[in-house]
Amino acid sequence: MSVSRRDFLERTAALAAAGFVPRLPDDLLGAAAPATAAPMAWHGRGRPLVVSSSNGIKGVRVAYDRMLAGEDPLDAAIAGVNLVELDPTDQSVGLGGLPNEEGVVQLDASCMHGPTRRAGSVAAIEGIATPSLVAKAVMDYTDHVMLVGAGATKFAKAMGFKEQNLLTEQSRQDWMRWKSRLNANDAWLDHDDDIKIKFTTGTINMNAVNGAGDIGSVTTTSGMAWKVPGRIGDSPVIGAGQYCDNLVGAAGSTGRGEANIKTCASFLIVEFMRQGLGPQEACLKTLERVVAMTETRLMGPNGRPKFDLEFYALTKDGRFGGATLYSGGKFAVCDEKGARLEEAAYLLKR
Ligand code: ASP
Repeated sequence: MSVSRRDFLERTAALAAAGFVPRLPDDLLGAAAPATAAPMAWHGRGRPLVVSSSNGIKGVRVAYDRMLAGEDPLDAAIAGVNLVELDPTDQSVGLGGLPNEEGVVQLDASCMHGPTRRAGSVAAIEGIATPSLVAKAVMDYTDHVMLVGAGATKFAKAMGFKEQNLLTEQSRQDWMRWKSRLNANDAWLDHDDDIKIKFTTGTINMNAVNGAGDIGSVTTTSGMAWKVPGRIGDSPVIGAGQYCDNLVGAAGSTGRGEANIKTCASFLIVEFMRQGLGPQEACLKTLERVVAMTETRLMGPNGRPKFDLEFYALTKDGRFGGATLYSGGKFAVCDEKGARLEEAAYLLKR
């Protein structure tokens, strides 16, 4: 289908009016090209800021300090999440993450680099504790955006990442408890009646912006515990687990990945911010979309979703926000006032 230059310019003008600003280089469009500035006001001055899920409370400090020392925002954010990936006691990410239904730890991660508009991702990767760094290596060293499964593991090993057993003794025991209670009539005897089965989700998302307004975002996870082998959540999906546009801001998510993927939530949050909403409003508006897209089987008797989802966002000019579907959530922030947990806004009272 061919489009005349006039049609194209008329359409892009209409899109720009609606808040969608094309980013084609001017020389491709000729002298009459529309401006490529973001509708959000940007005066060339921002402030360094890092925002993440609450389990990043130590990591936001690391990322912030690294940015102040001149490190790129994406590298700084990745250093922040590496702390959690390498912590064997955090069972939602990296080493020690809860495994799939066969007892195998499969990890997902993705990242985006605002200034260069690049992205990288790995999904269902095994045996590598820092999938965030492998996602960045996909971005840095290949012409691709996403590698999955055995291919992702093979790539990581070729890039020099160390392969290791990620299933800690604690996570193995939790998996065995879950397995033995799956069916009261199977051949596995139930034990430890007083021990609660662990949570089944958890992830870390971190977004960072420096004083020049350059942005990086990263999300890394072991995904839903006890998942079907090969299941990929939202974390490695660009636009779902995280998204970053250097003209606007970044957003990321934790919680039920399946609900996030269907709404391309991180992309949507950034788009709402592009249209002028603040980060918290953009997160809340996206949560409304998540509820609207929830299938009946996942609605409780009160007509409310049976899962939770959490969003974190920041803008190029140094504003931030976080919102959760249900009340009671917190998120981590680090700026000139230091690292702290903030109350998240919410859509529904728990
Ligand atoms: N979003 C992750 C996933 O669905 C899990 C989580 O954040 O808790 O894989």
